[in-house]
Amino acid sequence: MDFDLSEEHRLLRQSVRGFVEKEIMPVARRIDETGEFPWPALKGLAKLGLLGLNVPEAYGGAGADHLSAAILLEEIGRGCGSTGLIVAAHLGLACGPLAAFGSEEQKRKWLRPLAAGEMLGCLGLTEPGSGSDLRATRTTARRDGDSWVLNGSKMWLTNGAEAGVAILLCRTGGEGERDGILSHIIVPTDTPGMKFDPPEPKMGLHGSHTYALSIEDVRVPAENLLGGEGRGLGQTMAVLDGGRIGIGALSLGLAQGAYEAAAKYAGERQAFGSPLKEHQAIAFMLADMITEIEASRWLVYRAAWLRDQGRSYTKEASIAKLFATEAAERIARNAIQIHGGNGYSPLYGVERIYRDARLMTIGEGTSEIQRMVISRFA
Ligand SMILES: Cc1cc2nc3c(=O)[nH]c(=O)nc-3n(C[C@H](O)[C@H](O)[C@H](O)COP(=O)(O)OP(=O)(O)OC[C@H]3O[C@@H](n4cnc5c(N)ncnc54)[C@H](O)[C@@H]3O)c2cc1C
Repeated sequence: MDFDLSEEHRLLRQSVRGFVEKEIMPVARRIDETGEFPWPALKGLAKLGLLGLNVPEAYGGAGADHLSAAILLEEIGRGCGSTGLIVAAHLGLACGPLAAFGSEEQKRKWLRPLAAGEMLGCLGLTEPGSGSDLRATRTTARRDGDSWVLNGSKMWLTNGAEAGVAILLCRTGGEGERDGILSHIIVPTDTPGMKFDPPEPKMGLHGSHTYALSIEDVRVPAENLLGGEGRGLGQTMAVLDGGRIGIGALSLGLAQGAYEAAAKYAGERQAFGSPLKEHQAIAFMLADMITEIEASRWLVYRAAWLRDQGRSYTKEASIAKLFATEAAERIARNAIQIHGGNGYSPLYGVERIYRDARLMTIGEGTSEIQRMVISRFA
């Protein structure tokens, strides 16, 4: 066994960290407070080739492995959850399925500009009436000559209106059928009939915009079917396996950021004649944070490594997501506790991390869904 990162991975971490500390961390609070979309940071990431980091070189990506993508999201998450979620959705939910299931033509047309960061992508699975239970998808895609005609609605699309292209999970099979009824359709977001509402108000991740979408007689060419007709559910499960490593990595970064802030504060703030961290109750909170971060890191890296080896990683991705997301929430909560009253103020950044981390146990499969996946292996 080798627990050392390669030189390549270490260099990647170093360069991403440098960029995040210079361009992302200093604006994270403003992004949270104003809800502005972090285009300058995203353009910078695109320039560094990071918005196509694990897209094959043949389609303009850097061709890096999935461990690299995990390190990227960890480092962005350490600085800004909103920017991290935008990149996680772009890489994992848009580039991922196109690279895995796209035809040569689709990859040239959509994956290339996504990898170059010329546009963002998004994936629409969730609907007002269905999230965890994707078989209850109501949006339909009906074949009409050389076209698909889509009708329905989607909910909670990360990157939605900012994206150039959406991959939409649609019902292409009959009413009574259970299996083989769902398919992915690629839809440019400016297609007539696609209407995004204004960004949803939400608890955190204010710089990452999330949209409700109504889809009315949206017509796209038949060749916009992604992968096989009726394979949408299986393809979604495969995409989410990968996406879960990304959300685990992002949570790891959020936890790391919260821990660093708490450790710094505990070293500076005095109470009862000594720094906070010399009080055992605080020191033990920091010790638990270090332990949970370390455990999260190796669970996330191992799932990414298994994926890179071409081995099965469904269980490991769910374990990594479950643990890292719940640990991030606990760590952010205790980071606020260590800051006392100041922790409740936006000036210290930890309440932002807490609000951002809260989503991670919900998106890309809730903790309950992860436990259901893991228990299938029991
Ligand atoms: C900020 C944000 C960004 C998002 N981005 C995207 C995106 O880009 N694309 C997208 O498609 N979706 C996105 N989502 C949606 C997200 O993936 C769903 O919210 C999530 O999958 C849960 O679905 P739901 O909200 O319908 O909850 P439900 O499925 O209704 O679940 C409600 C509760 O019931 C539990 N539950 C459900 N079924 C079971 C069961 N069988 N056993 C035990 N418990 C169960 C759940 O764990 C949860 O606690 C986003 C959501 C948010 C908030």
